[in-house]
Amino acid sequence: MPTVTLIPGDGIGPEVSRATRKVVDALGCGIDWEVHDAGIPAIETHADPLPPHVLDSIRRNKVALKGPVTTPVGSGFRSINVALRQELDLFASVRPCRLYPGVPSHFEAVDIVVVRENTEDLYEGIEFEQGSDRLKKLRGYLKYEHNFVIASDAGVSVKPISISATNSIVEFAFKYAKQYHRRKVTLGHKANIMRYSDGLWLKTGEKLAEQYREVGFEALQVDELAMWLAWNPHDMDVLVLPNLYGDIISDLCAGLVGGLGLAPGMNLGKECAVFEPTHGSAPDIAGKGLANPIAMILSAVFMLRHLGLDDDGHRLEKAVATVLAEGKVRPPDMHPHGHPATTDQVATAIIESL
Ligand code: NAD
Repeated sequence: MPTVTLIPGDGIGPEVSRATRKVVDALGCGIDWEVHDAGIPAIETHADPLPPHVLDSIRRNKVALKGPVTTPVGSGFRSINVALRQELDLFASVRPCRLYPGVPSHFEAVDIVVVRENTEDLYEGIEFEQGSDRLKKLRGYLKYEHNFVIASDAGVSVKPISISATNSIVEFAFKYAKQYHRRKVTLGHKANIMRYSDGLWLKTGEKLAEQYREVGFEALQVDELAMWLAWNPHDMDVLVLPNLYGDIISDLCAGLVGGLGLAPGMNLGKECAVFEPTHGSAPDIAGKGLANPIAMILSAVFMLRHLGLDDDGHRLEKAVATVLAEGKVRPPDMHPHGHPATTDQVATAIIESL
């Protein structure tokens, strides 16, 4: 039976992870969980939000199910999520946004998959703090060598986009589209403004698209893409985006299909895969039993399929769809004014529908 690294995370992470584990265990597929802390509990016990043994466990098991973790601001710790993706070379973030019957939405039958580049762009962490000596040197170099002027009270983040990373993610998007019989791939960019980063992304993507003529292809400026998603999301299918746009657009797409509480996700590399909801640690509702566990439970559905446990994945997705369609048990984010179910009650209803 497969062993999976389980990272409960922090904030609402432990609550939604507990609910997800309960539901997956109820399937009887015999997953062996290796539980490790990351985020705030790991800072408390190991003085490190991402201790090396957590990475070792994922490298050994190849598959992890992860709850959200808080990104510490101004604490000296780096983003655990970005570090995890970079350390394990999880270059592809895949966020399926499917509208299940019974879920309140402004639209019908939305079914979009956001494929986000996960390793570079403004998330690569090349940053220069306002007022620092490093930034003073950079400003001097740019002024004297290239006549670019950066204001003395500015901070700077660098946006690298490479041909190799673009090829990997766009190829991934086309292969995904082919495998799952999707109509088209839409590539989002802002090449008119960032000619050498987004411009390279666009040129590389267009070139690669020529090898996949059987799949439809279009390139749209990301602002126009956002407008189309809000206007007519039915026209969109697989989206491929650089890191930052992918982050923003995937939350937009989550909003089209019922919100963050229903949006699953996965981070895939050549060796390892980490399944996690799109949402964060939601400190505003943590510890209150108010978190919707469905985003993480749906992430587990994709994990089961990745492990080759297709029947279990199908059973679990069907049970989630049944609970959503019946509408008798609804988490607070879907039912803010009625008598919403707690995180555990949602899990129990799903187990009863298996
Ligand atoms: P968030 O996703 O945590 O919360 C945004 C809003 O959505 C909040 O109102 C929250 O209550 C609500 N929400 C989120 N998930 C929900 C759920 N399952 N059920 C019901 N409501 C839910 O975003 P944020 O507040 O910007 O981020 C909080 C922290 O999480 C930050 O430190 C951020 O960096 C981190 N984060 C982590 C991940 C990850 O671990 N993969 C992803 C995104 C954000």
